Amino acid sequence: MSGQKLLFDCGPATTHKLVKAGISPTEVDDVFFTHHHFDHDSDFPTFILTRWDQNIPVDRPLNVYGPLLTDRFTNGIIDEDTGLFAHDWLARVHHPASQATYQARGGQLPRRKPNVVVREIGPGDVVDGDGWRVIASHAEHVQPYLDSLAYRVEAEGRSIVLTGDTRPCSSITELARGADVLMMMCWETHARMSDNEELSASSSIRGAAQTAAEAGAKQLVMVHVGPRLREPKMAAARDAEAAEVFDGQVVWGEEMMEIALA
Ligand SMILES: [Zn+2]
Repeated sequence: MSGQKLLFDCGPATTHKLVKAGISPTEVDDVFFTHHHFDHDSDFPTFILTRWDQNIPVDRPLNVYGPLLTDRFTNGIIDEDTGLFAHDWLARVHHPASQATYQARGGQLPRRKPNVVVREIGPGDVVDGDGWRVIASHAEHVQPYLDSLAYRVEAEGRSIVLTGDTRPCSSITELARGADVLMMMCWETHARMSDNEELSASSSIRGAAQTAAEAGAKQLVMVHVGPRLREPKMAAARDAEAAEVFDGQVVWGEEMMEIALA
């Protein structure tokens, strides 16, 4: 697993944030999508094309995994005949000036098109990598409009579960059983979300904390946190709601945060 990087979802500015964090897109060979809401996938054209453009002189395939629509979405970006960005890579492959730039970076002609391998997966599917594996499970979000998956990453005897967007459900609890880290969507307080339909598609503080408690997860990382909960004045209240049902460590995720496995 050493040195390998897996990317889960690719929402707005992901490529920019990766570079800001000191990670080149060329270091990532495996991308997993939880679902295809734009806040989880809209930076993928930038990611694919930057990785392809800079992946010199090595040409490793980009493996893309995700639920239904992942193939149509990915090939909708790069397919030679129908992809919205095919004109870009075709111009870079064929124009002499672009070829010269490519060679100056160490590339050898003829330049190859983006090498992207898509595999649509579903609950129970397992992706085996070099020293790691990723298990997919069902997430309950906005079906039947979009399929959603959650993932459990296992490597070197450790485990991290990323729920994507979901409401609490048994498949998530089972996936998170005994996990070292559960990264779960947490949008608002339970009381606020009980006033409307949001609980049918998303998780509250209490929902995430209850899932972590029932699964026996060691650490709960709240992600996809709603704007009101990120206000400083909400710090005590959000901690208190989580602590009502989960006595493990709770981390409130923020942009660019790095979390070391304890
Ligand atoms: Zn969503």
